[in-house]
Amino acid sequence: MRALTFAVLKRLSDGEFHSGEALAQALDVSRASIWNALNEAAEFGVEVARVHGRGYRLPGGLDWLDAERIGAAAGNRGLFVRVVDECGSTNAELLRAEEAGAGSGEVLAAELQTQGRGRLGRTWHSGLGSSLTFSLLWRFDKSMASLGGLSLAVGLGVARALAACGVEVGLKWPNDLLWQGRKLGGILIEVRGDSLGPCAAVIGVGLNMRLPQEVKFRIDQPAADLADADAETASRTEVMIAVLDALTQVLVEFDRDGFAPLRSEWMRHHAHQNRAVTLSAPDGSTLHGMARGVDEHACLLIETESGVRAIHTGDVSLRAV
Ligand code: ATP
Repeated sequence: MRALTFAVLKRLSDGEFHSGEALAQALDVSRASIWNALNEAAEFGVEVARVHGRGYRLPGGLDWLDAERIGAAAGNRGLFVRVVDECGSTNAELLRAEEAGAGSGEVLAAELQTQGRGRLGRTWHSGLGSSLTFSLLWRFDKSMASLGGLSLAVGLGVARALAACGVEVGLKWPNDLLWQGRKLGGILIEVRGDSLGPCAAVIGVGLNMRLPQEVKFRIDQPAADLADADAETASRTEVMIAVLDALTQVLVEFDRDGFAPLRSEWMRHHAHQNRAVTLSAPDGSTLHGMARGVDEHACLLIETESGVRAIHTGDVSLRAV
């Protein structure tokens, strides 16, 4: 989205009427440019009301991130937060920063993420002001192999934060957040470094706040947002502060003690406990069984006709039958 479109939307964020002429004057552009900017905003799911004789208005305003407030709150936790208007993928950008030597605790949040990624090359959809998309860089002295339970620990951290905002979520192995069986958020963790350590994890979090219909239509599985969960009073800023707070805490716990002490709490959130599930691998093979939770190494336990199997790899997709 063009810089001018962001600038126009920021002017309209107060939810009041602004005439095209006043906007054009304030931003030193033509009225036609304002018109084009508003059309571009509509393409991104931001509908601006136009009333003849009064001008343009964003009903309800737009929920921007308050970088100063987030920075101050996260700074107390040793995090350094950067908020940008637009980013292809906050994970990809932070991975580049990691290679350039960025420190542990760097956070990158985008008002609009245009090429959000999921696991295995999948797409993460989001909209302007309607999602929370950010990544956090965390460095570990331990080996890559010891990070096996990291995505479950991170999921638990986000679940704790959402509980503090009044929303109880389910966790789907290895890394999804569900609300009433629909996907509310996703986590993408990308690890770099030496297999024996040290290593670094870029932890991407995508959370649906109040997705416009046109974004929901693009998602090929049932999705939910915090507005569905009646948590729409919490702003993106408040949710992000809560999530960063909980993530820092759970990462310290995980770094110190590993996944085992977090296991029982994870199990209380397990969305598929004792339910029939199917696991699909990228090569097309499938495994059917009953989900029996996870072991202390964060492996998924599936009870099949031939006994209980522990599934290590996260490169499989799990579905309730
Ligand atoms: P799956 O959820 O299919 O088991 P996964 O956990 O590996 O796969 P992720 O990498 O977490 O998936 O996320 C990518 C998938 O999530 C997409 O393929 C799409 O089905 C779904 N998705 C994309 N954007 C959203 C969104 N905003 N809300 C909910 N689900 C989404």
